[in-house]
Amino acid sequence: MTKRVFSGFRPTGRQHIGNYFGTIQNCLQLQEEYESFYCVVDLHALTTLENTATLKEDVHNMVLDWLAAGIDPEKSVIFVQSHVPEVTELHMLMSMVTPLSWLLRVPTFKEKVRMHPENVNYGLVGYPVLMTSDIALYKGEVVPVGEDQLAHLELAREILRRFNSMFGNVFPEPQAKLTEFPLIVGLNGAEKMSKSADNYIEIAASPEDIRKKISTAFTDPARKYRADPGHPEVCNVFTLHKMFTVGRIAEIERECRNAGIGCTDCKKLLAESVSDYFAPFRERRLELQARPEYVREVVQDGAARASRVARETLREVKAAMNLLP
Ligand code: SF4
Repeated sequence: MTKRVFSGFRPTGRQHIGNYFGTIQNCLQLQEEYESFYCVVDLHALTTLENTATLKEDVHNMVLDWLAAGIDPEKSVIFVQSHVPEVTELHMLMSMVTPLSWLLRVPTFKEKVRMHPENVNYGLVGYPVLMTSDIALYKGEVVPVGEDQLAHLELAREILRRFNSMFGNVFPEPQAKLTEFPLIVGLNGAEKMSKSADNYIEIAASPEDIRKKISTAFTDPARKYRADPGHPEVCNVFTLHKMFTVGRIAEIERECRNAGIGCTDCKKLLAESVSDYFAPFRERRLELQARPEYVREVVQDGAARASRVARETLREVKAAMNLLP
């Protein structure tokens, strides 16, 4: 029988190149091998969001990008966490089997308390219980994680093990599928590409916007004048060329080293490559955008399919816990 994979993503709005080569590519591959449940975890986002003004739009844009990139609602269940309210009920039941000490020792919780002592809410400490409930509700057997998320999944497994030992074997223990998310460095050349660092290129950006963004990219700091030879190995523009201008990489390297090409032209070339790479995606996105109800229909259908599984799991859980039917 095909195994079920569950993956939850915080609603980060329009996706950037880092998201594309990390999560989206990964989802595309998994949907061919597993029964895939892809969920936008909007309730999780509320634990740290101070302002929800763009939340609806962010969910919409993220799903639209997924669909335009080829995540297929015929193959995958694409849905929004809050559309399947059974998850909140399971969260409550799971919270009864989760020792508070387990939650207080979670490193990301401690980190958030340190960074934002003024915003330590009840939901934040229960974040891992909600995450566990997501996986458990859909009986996820496989969860794709990066190395840095292994500890979170281990905690989920501990909670489920505890539940099973107290109430009987209701849940499979989800296995980690260790996934390599290539580190895409942002335009500042210093950090991972992200919205918070404002060093990103959206995959749906127009060719003009891509050009403007790339024109701000940091290059080889030793190359002060056009005639200075460059050092492509320290330049993130060159790293991006390796992904987008594959066929001309030897030429760019040579021309950079002997100052045959200036950084302005090199960036223009990168902008063209990035723009060409995402042209089919942009076209598909525009087609989907012309059907304003489409995203809503996809997530409604996804919620209906997810709800069928969720209701059945919750019925089993309540029976196991001896709640009166
Ligand atoms: Fe970087 Fe290109 Fe400038 Fe060389 S020519 S330093 S690769 S931007």
